[in-house]
Amino acid sequence: MSQVSQGKRVVVVGAGWAGLGATYHLAKQGYDVTLLEAGSYPGGLVAGWKTAAGRSVEAGIHGFWYPYSNIFSLINELGINPFTTWTRSAQYSPAGLEVESPIFQNLPQLPTPLGTFLYTQFKRLPLIDRLSALPLLYAVIDFDNSDEAWRRYDFVTARELFKDFGVSFRLYRESFEPMLLVGLFAPGEQCSAAAALGMLYYFILAHQPDFDVVWCRGTVGEKIFRPWVERIETGAKVLANRRVTDLIVDSDNRATGVVCGDEVFDADAVIFAVGITGMKKIVSSSPNLQKRQEFRNLNNLGAIDVLATRLWFDRKIHIKRPSNACFGFDTTTGWTFFDLNTLHDEYRHEPGTVVEADFYHANQFLSLENEEIVSIVQRYLATCVPEFREAKVIDSSVIRLPQAVSHFAPGSYRYMLPAKTSFKNVFMSGDWIVNRHGSWSQEKAYVTGLEAANLVISSFGEGTPVKILPVQPDEAHIQLGRVVNKTARQIGKFILPQFWLP
Ligand SMILES: Cc1cc2nc3c(=O)[nH]c(=O)nc-3n(C[C@H](O)[C@H](O)[C@H](O)COP(=O)(O)OP(=O)(O)OC[C@H]3O[C@@H](n4cnc5c(N)ncnc54)[C@H](O)[C@@H]3O)c2cc1C
Repeated sequence: MSQVSQGKRVVVVGAGWAGLGATYHLAKQGYDVTLLEAGSYPGGLVAGWKTAAGRSVEAGIHGFWYPYSNIFSLINELGINPFTTWTRSAQYSPAGLEVESPIFQNLPQLPTPLGTFLYTQFKRLPLIDRLSALPLLYAVIDFDNSDEAWRRYDFVTARELFKDFGVSFRLYRESFEPMLLVGLFAPGEQCSAAAALGMLYYFILAHQPDFDVVWCRGTVGEKIFRPWVERIETGAKVLANRRVTDLIVDSDNRATGVVCGDEVFDADAVIFAVGITGMKKIVSSSPNLQKRQEFRNLNNLGAIDVLATRLWFDRKIHIKRPSNACFGFDTTTGWTFFDLNTLHDEYRHEPGTVVEADFYHANQFLSLENEEIVSIVQRYLATCVPEFREAKVIDSSVIRLPQAVSHFAPGSYRYMLPAKTSFKNVFMSGDWIVNRHGSWSQEKAYVTGLEAANLVISSFGEGTPVKILPVQPDEAHIQLGRVVNKTARQIGKFILPQFWLP
């Protein structure tokens, strides 16, 4: 890694996509970076490890969608080949197969959202229900990911938004809510309408191929983070089992050190790259952060319980598609299951079937015993693929992730932090940080890490900012719609008093 800067010390807290992204780039620029991770290994929510019996497990399976250009560019730079080819997916309810998705980039390209509408194969949902989504296009155009748009839509629940725009009961229950449960990890009445519009646009609506997805051919920990961290360690220190508890601050409004139990790491700049729950814990143990309203207010944010299970069955069972999303089993929980014999190299020649089943907004499952969870998972799997009924579970792993993923609750936007804080040299990153890039989940976490690294670089004036790839521009008709709508809004503001709620 090159040496550009004068060895300025940067401490990065948290080794998920955001923290690793920031560390990697700053180390390349010659900064003296120390990455502190509370867990035993890097990866954060995407960590993977081996059980005592030598089986690979991870904190849920992670997809990499078509618009993840910054992550794909990193993978090219690292010269690794971790991914499957583009895969098709299916959706199940207790009634059976509901939807199959093609590989959208292989089909003739149509102006959005026509491709999504015409090429998605709905098995039961009547056309009239699908057509009831049309008025929602106005909200898609009106929500342009600006701060103003977030403030306009964030106080409304996603359910109210769909109701107000005339979405049918079946379309909401069988299509939109399942997407919210797997995309934002919460049912519609608990999701901000702004987050719902932003997430659906990024993953599905902006361009026809956006819903195409690849998966790692093993755990993300093994396939991506191991080689990446090896590269990072040639220029930075990555220290595991270091739980940060406080910041040391001087009278010039700068952080000068990061406290980690009995250790103090001196710092010229600090980047926080921890999730909401982790950040709330740091604030609770840090008098210096509690003094600031922006950090105190983080206690108004929440996170969501997730459950990741992996089951080994005694026989081969044919699963039509490698990745599957399910709804209607528990009213406020979405779940997905993955055929790991197809996705992961390690299980390709396994005599039995290996399935990962992950549950989002899994509150009611977390306190159950493992055996009980495994038997529920087998029952649910058998509802989708009846052959699972007779199969025997020969091994299993149950990973509970309480308060793990960011909750984009209605009204939460005003408490989420931007990358710049009220400290001169403390920056924020992670998938819940307010930015204008437009990406979500892993790609957003990685992008915010790069953005924080660039803020450090510009604050010291040393090093070259990393080039962050923007999301692909809106299609021409959406751009036009947005210009017309914005103009109409501005004229409206001019004529009408600011009297009503936004
Ligand atoms: C089951 C599941 C499935 C998912 N599926 C997908 C998917 O298919 N596609 C997708 O793109 N995204 C998916 N996500 C979301 C994705 O995992 C996250 O958006 C992303 O990993 C967030 O990265 P991050 O760097 O912001 O935070 P994290 O990964 O949460 O990393 C934060 C790190 O900070 C550390 N930390 C916390 N407190 C401290 C402290 N005090 N001191 C030091 N370190 C600390 C934590 O241990 C952790 O390693 C899924 C998440 C889950 C749980």
